Amino acid sequence: MDNNSPYLHPQYETLSRDELKALQLERLKKTVKHCMNSEFYRKRFANAGLSPDDIRSLDDLRKIPFTTKQDLRDTYPFGMASVPLPQCVRLHSSSGTTGNPTVILHTQRDLDEWANAVARCLWMVGLRPDDVFQNSSGYGMFTGGLGFQYGAERLGALTVPAAAGNSLRQIKFIKDFGTTAIHAVPSYVTRLYEVMQQEGVDPRRDTKLKVLAIGAEPHSEEQRRRIEQMLGVKAYNSFGMSEMCGPGVGFECKEQNGLHFWEDYYIVEIINPETLEPVADGEIGELVLTTLNREAMPLLRYRTRDLTRVLGHSCPCGRNHIRLDRMRGRSDDMIVLRGVNIFPIQIETILMQFKELASNYLITLTTDADNDNMTVEVELEELFTDDYQRLVALEKEIKHRLKDEILLTPHVRLVPKGTLPVSEGKAVRVVDKRKVYQ
Ligand code: AMP
Ligand code: ZN
Repeated sequence: MDNNSPYLHPQYETLSRDELKALQLERLKKTVKHCMNSEFYRKRFANAGLSPDDIRSLDDLRKIPFTTKQDLRDTYPFGMASVPLPQCVRLHSSSGTTGNPTVILHTQRDLDEWANAVARCLWMVGLRPDDVFQNSSGYGMFTGGLGFQYGAERLGALTVPAAAGNSLRQIKFIKDFGTTAIHAVPSYVTRLYEVMQQEGVDPRRDTKLKVLAIGAEPHSEEQRRRIEQMLGVKAYNSFGMSEMCGPGVGFECKEQNGLHFWEDYYIVEIINPETLEPVADGEIGELVLTTLNREAMPLLRYRTRDLTRVLGHSCPCGRNHIRLDRMRGRSDDMIVLRGVNIFPIQIETILMQFKELASNYLITLTTDADNDNMTVEVELEELFTDDYQRLVALEKEIKHRLKDEILLTPHVRLVPKGTLPVSEGKAVRVVDKRKVYQ
């Protein structure tokens, strides 16, 4: 492993499992004590009859009650702070669809450690100070902007804070500045490629791109492979969430065999969301994270709602940080249609296997004559609307394959490329227009 950067705590990257656990325990005890500075956790512990001294082993973590997004909303805006407000230098906030937004506070040290974590991820996939890193995330409250910005600067790359949208300008920057690496949400990469095609830009011939970091939204392995093929680069899955800091929580190494979650920064648990008990390695469950080195707003056993599973604890790359499968989606994203549970990613996985189909799709749920239905609209790679029979056969085959996967037959509509909406941030894949009967 080539890891001689002074910034990235390389000594923590290759710890053995036992060393990692020892470090986690030391940091957990410290974190729990520090949490007692927050009114929220003081009350939580008191209500549970728990004292920080009760946490003597990693297993004792399970004595601590879970923290939820609702807790963040209830303590809005600053009720979870574990340091006095004047020590904080930034906050990020997510709007959320209902109730109060959530607020995450950072001290300068938190921001430094966050930058280190992102730099570590980028270094891991081959970025070096002579790289040119372009960030096409929105800057602002969305942590994908500033998070990658400071991480790439910390690594020493030349950074291009292009921000979201304006594909023509993005492409010009990529060409003129010799961009070698990009961070983007996966749904935006496919859009960028379409514009490259329209402009006659061949990424292999006309750009120096070699690495993509894609994340912030669920995407299938098929989607990733497509993106790699389009741009002729390696695309690495990047997991982040504002509550943990932002990007830099989990990232794929060059083996592309799951996300390394940094266990010197977080304790990872996977639980059954119904029973709240841990699931066996390899079984899908809800990701629960405990922060280990945050100052302003440490979180204990935070229920992320993201569903994933443990793939392993070692890797040919030499890192022993836990490897998790790509996120299947959030439990809140699960569609329940006529009693069947469906994740949008299952639908994407099937669609992306058809070479006739482009990458953009939209799932709409409606109630027609008292029946709930699903319509899957997907863009065609090429227009062959004149060949009606071919269209009908393709639609039929897609329906058939979807039925095998999701056990329901949706309506399928094939639409010309460029017709479905593209959002600048995270893609909206599901529109639910069903009537709700009380
Ligand atoms: P936010 O805090 O608004 O940036 O959203 C964080 C959420 O985005 C996570 O809880 C996940 O649901 C989703 N997310 C982030 N990165 C990924 C990824 N690589 N794959 C799938 N979902 C992701
Ligand atoms: Zn690895």
